[in-house]
Amino acid sequence: MGKRYGQHFLRSPAVLEAIAAGAEIGPGEPVLEIGPGEGALTERLLTAGADVAAVEIDPALCVKLRERFAAVSRFRLIEADVLQLDLSPQHLFGSAGLYAVIANLPYYLTTPLLFRLIAERRRLSRLVLMVQREIATRLVASPRDGKDYGALSVAAQHTFRMKRLLDVPPGAFRPPPKVDSAVVRFVPREPQLPPAREARFLAYVKAMFIHRRKLMLGNLKRGYGPLDGERLAALERLIAGRRADALTPEEHLAVFELLHEGAGT
Ligand code: SAM
Repeated sequence: MGKRYGQHFLRSPAVLEAIAAGAEIGPGEPVLEIGPGEGALTERLLTAGADVAAVEIDPALCVKLRERFAAVSRFRLIEADVLQLDLSPQHLFGSAGLYAVIANLPYYLTTPLLFRLIAERRRLSRLVLMVQREIATRLVASPRDGKDYGALSVAAQHTFRMKRLLDVPPGAFRPPPKVDSAVVRFVPREPQLPPAREARFLAYVKAMFIHRRKLMLGNLKRGYGPLDGERLAALERLIAGRRADALTPEEHLAVFELLHEGAGT
């Protein structure tokens, strides 16, 4: 079994059912499944009537999946690395429109993948994802939660409403992973910023947390150059003496808006 691909296959029928039920898939609904593995979750999604595009990196598993679902016209296998994949609905499903993402994620790439899905949120109807329990905690953390609160928390909370559906022990998988897991449901929020500006906000968030232990004002002066008097005074009122990990997602958005006031997009 390819250890490097984070392969832990779900064996618990109860957990598979819970993911499929949590996804509330309707007949004919387009679903992207990341890492179908041997197809246990795929089977549930197809039974629910989904139109499944599944992306799997491991060639040996792809051979098995093609055999297993050869007779199913609503199943399309894409043999690729999901991080390199064009996530447009036209490429995945051959038509426009929102699609859901359902996956028991390979844990080694959870964080980059979540940032990618956050950036793509305008194309998504919802996500139901199995992640490490530690990541589930970070996703919904607030400034009170110490080091669990970070760029991922701010970026995810800005873009999605999230609900932890269930906690999953290692014994639900073969082979069992070393860590506990949790299933999280994400529903995109109404965008507060136009697309290009939101992309800049997400870049701002990442940059602010690189030096999370330093004071925000210093980070901003380094990153954004000299600030005019009025803007500097407004920023000082908001963040004087505070670090990035003390600000709520809403406060980060307020700081970003102040920095980019009059920037147009
Ligand atoms: N969905 C299956 C299940 O629940 O039993 C397998 C889940 S397993 C945790 C993760 C799957 O993602 C594996 O099949 C692995 O080969 C695949 N995978 C790992 N890295 C990938 C990548 N970069 N792109 C696409 N699939 C990947």
